[in-house]
Amino acid sequence: MKKALFPFCFILTLSFFLACTSTPKETYDLWIKNARIIDGSGSEPYWGHLLVNADKIAKIDTDTTNTYLATEVLDAQGRVLTPGFIDAHSHGDPLKTPEFTNFLAMGATTIFLGQDGSSPATKDLGAWMDEVDSLGLGPNIAMFVGHGTLRMISGIEYAKDPTEEVLLKMDSLLIDAMKVGSFGLSTGLEYNPGYLAGGDELNRLAKITGEYGGMVMSHMRNEDDQFMEASLTELLAQGEYCPVHVSHIKIVYAKGESRAKEILALLEKERQDGKTVTADVYPYEASYTGISLLFPDWVKPPANYDEVVATRKAELEAYLRNRVNLRNGPEATLMGSGDYKGKTLKQIAEELNKPFEKVLVEDIKLTGSAAYFVMDEDVMKTFLKDPNICVSSDGSPTSNHPRGHGTFAKIIESYVINEPLLTLPEAIHKMTGLTAKQTGISDRGLIQEGMVADLLIFDPERVKATATYENPYQLAEGFDMVFVNGKPAFKDGELVGKYGRVLRKK
Ligand SMILES: [Zn+2]
Repeated sequence: MKKALFPFCFILTLSFFLACTSTPKETYDLWIKNARIIDGSGSEPYWGHLLVNADKIAKIDTDTTNTYLATEVLDAQGRVLTPGFIDAHSHGDPLKTPEFTNFLAMGATTIFLGQDGSSPATKDLGAWMDEVDSLGLGPNIAMFVGHGTLRMISGIEYAKDPTEEVLLKMDSLLIDAMKVGSFGLSTGLEYNPGYLAGGDELNRLAKITGEYGGMVMSHMRNEDDQFMEASLTELLAQGEYCPVHVSHIKIVYAKGESRAKEILALLEKERQDGKTVTADVYPYEASYTGISLLFPDWVKPPANYDEVVATRKAELEAYLRNRVNLRNGPEATLMGSGDYKGKTLKQIAEELNKPFEKVLVEDIKLTGSAAYFVMDEDVMKTFLKDPNICVSSDGSPTSNHPRGHGTFAKIIESYVINEPLLTLPEAIHKMTGLTAKQTGISDRGLIQEGMVADLLIFDPERVKATATYENPYQLAEGFDMVFVNGKPAFKDGELVGKYGRVLRKK
């Protein structure tokens, strides 16, 4: 027994000896070397080593002559190393597609769901988050609680003037959601039942959201050119109580940089007055949503569609004719679902041999979704350049629009490489550090020691958004390695691991 102690004492002595003469070398889980680091803050790239332990960035070393001990060593071969992208506005059902490969393939390692006023229809968002967390997720998922959903589950539903009793129920459901880690409240005021809410209801909810450290993220009441100021005024009033954020900012059918600058000036004025006002934008000229967006409120629930059509058909047709023509005409509406998927409203009208407004009233009705080519690239580019606007996809794995598979790749391919609208560090900042700051994620979005290791390795010249309106489900190319929580999640065009988590607002 005595002899056996000897080697133990010897090892201790040896360790002590090492400690006295040079620092003992720590073994890291992962060492990424030969990387050009773009840290997500907007700063210039630099060469460095990055070391990961468990799910965290343990060390960054700009002395590239140093060497390290690590279980895994990855030679980036001069490619860029950035934080994983954070998608401020995303769609999809993690219970159906927990891997979300479309997002990982375009570099998105965190996505925000519960958008446009619509979140899972449950009174216990915490239990839903726990269930989702147990599935094995591709990217991380962060949640907003939807105002429309709160209306439905509190019993307010389609009431225009809800009683104090049901409003209190909605208040407490919002508080419950904030307590379990929702990042705030989303509103979808162009949708049903969101559009039924007035300013008092929205301000009241914004106040609670602010008290719990959250923000209001809003698909505004109307994104058409002539309604932009009114829509923004309504949202900015909520900015008295909490940070407010314009989702997928656009000006439907407006053209030119100057109109976009007017809107940006309006937001900047509010910032000067002390409010926190931000926005996100996606790099496409078509929006995508339910066809019911074209129809007036008076045909939607609680109204009975067939009854309205029986009595006000001519009026409805005139409304739709006018609205669609304002929105660049029937050739600018491309059906994305249902029997007419892939055809424009103009083509369908020719096929059925009747005016497009009759096609809408008699054949399409309120069902299905479409892409609407109603946005001007100059307006979008002006928004994209604004330092307070981050990038979102507004995409999902299943919606018939290329943004769900292409957005973040398209930013790099189209607006950094092909046309230098943004520098690479600026573009990366708008997809990482800026988004984290705006949404309230405190431990991701930057390459810094102590941050969570959501990371991308890629050559910007090889990044391609291959999804098109004809083939919207093609994965983006060029993101060679995607790490989620320190582990490889997507590599060489394939999903290789599911390490995403549900993020709860701290
Ligand atoms: Zn929306």
